Amino acid sequence: MTSAMQVLEQSVVVFSQNYLPLCRVNIKRAIVLLVSDKAEALNLTAESGWQVNSPSLVLSVPKHIRLKIASAERMWKVPPVNRREVLRRDHHSCQYCGSSKHLTLDHVIPRSKGGPHTWDNVVTACERCNSRKSDRTPGEAGMQLRTKPKAPLHPAISFAEQFWNDVQANLE
Ligand SMILES: [Zn+2]
Repeated sequence: MTSAMQVLEQSVVVFSQNYLPLCRVNIKRAIVLLVSDKAEALNLTAESGWQVNSPSLVLSVPKHIRLKIASAERMWKVPPVNRREVLRRDHHSCQYCGSSKHLTLDHVIPRSKGGPHTWDNVVTACERCNSRKSDRTPGEAGMQLRTKPKAPLHPAISFAEQFWNDVQANLE
């Protein structure tokens, strides 16, 4: 028998209506989804999950739940445009020369020219490229971006791959 505290530390895998594993949520979030009828138990394996006791009810929480609603995307928000997230998106490399050293953030269209602080206008740039580019657009500076900046993708795809890899590893 697991204690209530141990149960609350567990996480549950959420599947979309189309049975695509989307993400992990903590057990409290899973309970909210189940109780509000936004999700149902999904019995993928013989493992039964956890039992949660409250004064008024006993709830069994499965290890996998499936959303009944088509709003999986809303559970994930585009991360804020900050140094950590931009560097992660750009794989810690300067988007002008590919260097991985002395990285800074560059506004493609400089802020002084009205460039916004948005995912499609902020890239990782090394100090050298950033100072060479200075207060100019890439075109004016004769520099070229390696990729067109855009907001990070919904992580469901990579999560799904990881999930099925783990399942496979458990079977072996
Ligand atoms: Zn560079």
